[in-house]
Amino acid sequence: MEGNGGNGGRVYVGNLDKSAKRAKQLVMGKLRMGKAVDWATAFSLWPVHLTTSCCGCEFAATWSPRFDAEQHGALPWVGARQTNMILIEGTVTKKMACAVRVTWEQMPSPKFAIAMGACAIDGGIFYNSYNIVRPWEIIPVDVYIPGCPPRPEAVARAIIELQRKIRKQRVASKWIEEGWRPDREYVKPKEDPCSWWRG
Ligand code: SF4
Repeated sequence: MEGNGGNGGRVYVGNLDKSAKRAKQLVMGKLRMGKAVDWATAFSLWPVHLTTSCCGCEFAATWSPRFDAEQHGALPWVGARQTNMILIEGTVTKKMACAVRVTWEQMPSPKFAIAMGACAIDGGIFYNSYNIVRPWEIIPVDVYIPGCPPRPEAVARAIIELQRKIRKQRVASKWIEEGWRPDREYVKPKEDPCSWWRG
């Protein structure tokens, strides 16, 4: 149920969940806060420090003074709980898959993933190895970067692509409205990745 507040605002009463959802839609839609949320999220991408393989060197170079990815609004951070982006750097082995999944689950939503290098797309030079896990089997990936290894410019380009996606598809504001990401399937590994190395 909806009524007018004394100061000209709106008062939602009744079912708390429905009222909260309608209030969120009002703030994000009519009051146009959604655009600000998407803009702010796109330029506040904080990738977590998690090096899975040799592409990590290019990840480090991307934030070096020469390429300076911080100018795009992205800054690597140490704690998973204060980050909103994960950059898979090349090969993910069965042993590392657990660390990737646990890190992903610790990150607050809305969160994003970039997979870097041929190894992160389909195993690369280790495509038929017994110990390789495709990153998309354990977390949902937004942008892929081909190459072995991709250059820092390619990483910067992927960040810009992700920013475009967030703003064009209103990913962050929709997440606040809906409580999930409608543009992407929820990925749940078929098996517990941590069981692969615990044995
Ligand atoms: S894509 Fe190339 S550089 Fe990157 S992890 Fe694989 S082998 Fe290493």
